[in-house]
Amino acid sequence: MTINGGISFWYASERTGTPATPPRAPLTTDAAADVVIVGGGYTGLWTAYYLKRAAPDLRITVLEQKFCGYGASGRNGGWLYNGIAGRDRYAALHGRPAARRLQQAMNETVTEVIDVTAKEGIDADIHRGGVLEVARTPAQLGRLKAFHAHEVAFGETDRELHDAPATRARIDIADAVGSSWSPHGARIHPLKLVKGLAAAVEALGVVIHESTPVTEIAPRRAVTPYGTVRAPYVLRCTEGFTAALKGQKRSWLPMNSSMIVTAPLPAETWSRLGWSDSTLLGDMAHAYMYAQRTADDRIAIGGRGVPYRFGSRTDNDGRTQPATVSALTTLLTSFFPQLAGTEITHAWSGVLGVPRDWCATVTLDRVSGLGWAGGYVGSGVATANLAARTLRDLVLGESTELTTLPWVDHRVRRWEPEPFRWLGVQALYAAYREADRHETATHRPTTTPLARLADRISGRH
Ligand SMILES: Cc1cc2nc3c(=O)[nH]c(=O)nc-3n(C[C@H](O)[C@H](O)[C@H](O)COP(=O)(O)OP(=O)(O)OC[C@H]3O[C@@H](n4cnc5c(N)ncnc54)[C@H](O)[C@@H]3O)c2cc1C
Repeated sequence: MTINGGISFWYASERTGTPATPPRAPLTTDAAADVVIVGGGYTGLWTAYYLKRAAPDLRITVLEQKFCGYGASGRNGGWLYNGIAGRDRYAALHGRPAARRLQQAMNETVTEVIDVTAKEGIDADIHRGGVLEVARTPAQLGRLKAFHAHEVAFGETDRELHDAPATRARIDIADAVGSSWSPHGARIHPLKLVKGLAAAVEALGVVIHESTPVTEIAPRRAVTPYGTVRAPYVLRCTEGFTAALKGQKRSWLPMNSSMIVTAPLPAETWSRLGWSDSTLLGDMAHAYMYAQRTADDRIAIGGRGVPYRFGSRTDNDGRTQPATVSALTTLLTSFFPQLAGTEITHAWSGVLGVPRDWCATVTLDRVSGLGWAGGYVGSGVATANLAARTLRDLVLGESTELTTLPWVDHRVRRWEPEPFRWLGVQALYAAYREADRHETATHRPTTTPLARLADRISGRH
């Protein structure tokens, strides 16, 4: 039987066999700090970490509505990799050299996360096997080759392009016609990382209040039902949940992504699949998938499912639609027909934040003391770390290489009001699904015009 929801498989797997972590105490009264951080995911916790390491005397308070890792940071696909939403737009806005610096910083961020977690003794099942992105139709192959060349031009000269046999020698994927492999990726257990980070920042003296929803963020204060925390700096690190905050309804759109995980697979299945190095696996479909081999030998695979709920509603503690579970199961067996009938033990979903121009940002307004970072779309695991180091420099008033990166202080227009927002996202994903279906059925060598049109209208590329 598949357990649907309950936050995520990562959450469930962390609770099995280990004593439950007692929840951290909520805020009970008004308080003061030097920096208050709203949100206990990677962005908030990495920011607390780097600030406290740089300035140990700073009084830092993290306010988390549920518990650390409740959001995408405790539910994601565990791709720690160098993708960043908006790089190409930043190249258009600020020039290619600036965007190349951003990409270089992202490449280094993957190593930074691996190094710091090791230094802090955080065991998050991290394994650096790179990222393999595969094409399974002629149109996907065209996009793959263009994507590969584009990434090499952005400085990833260590990327490798593989033909069909070389791809299948890495992982035996049905219908694979080519792939691009990058070394800038590592598999992680998302919740172990967020839990380890929370413990590390607490050990440094950061105060974390869980079960403390912030209802309003204003200059120099974060308001909760239990009291107000006053601080010169208030940092919003709420990603897919941002729309629920007062005044933020039409900023980042909460987009759902859903996942399933198999039961542990026996050694002979793994040797048949040939998936030996825990390489992260993705594809070039418009409604793309992402997958990892977990440390306990399962396949966790995700994709969009129902992308968006009317009115920017967010969460059911991770429950996803039964139709999405079936669609992801079908996707899994289309990649690996030998897995037909394999037990799916868990299914879940989470929300990520999508800005109107699909560009991640990090910002601090020195006058109001308000800052924020996010809008990572589907690439926040590493990006949150880069954002956190940048927020550190901004809060400390230091001009560094990080504060000159082109995503700093980028402003974006708001999403359309409902029902246009809902209709637009539904139409967009219907177009991508139809484009994928058409490209698979017709074997045409180029991307369908429908998908190009959807990209142009959405502002996604
Ligand atoms: C299913 C799924 C798969 C993904 N896979 C990948 C992947 O493989 N690789 C990758 O790079 N990215 C992936 N992402 C995206 C990535 O997980 C996120 O970008 C990243 O975790 C964002 O971290 P965050 O701390 O900014 O946000 P979150 O982890 O969402 O944390 C925000 C926190 O703020 C809290 N909060 C919100 N509002 C309030 C409030 N008002 N008061 C107090 N607290 C509040 C929430 O409870 C939450 O804990 C995926 C996302 C999902 C949903």
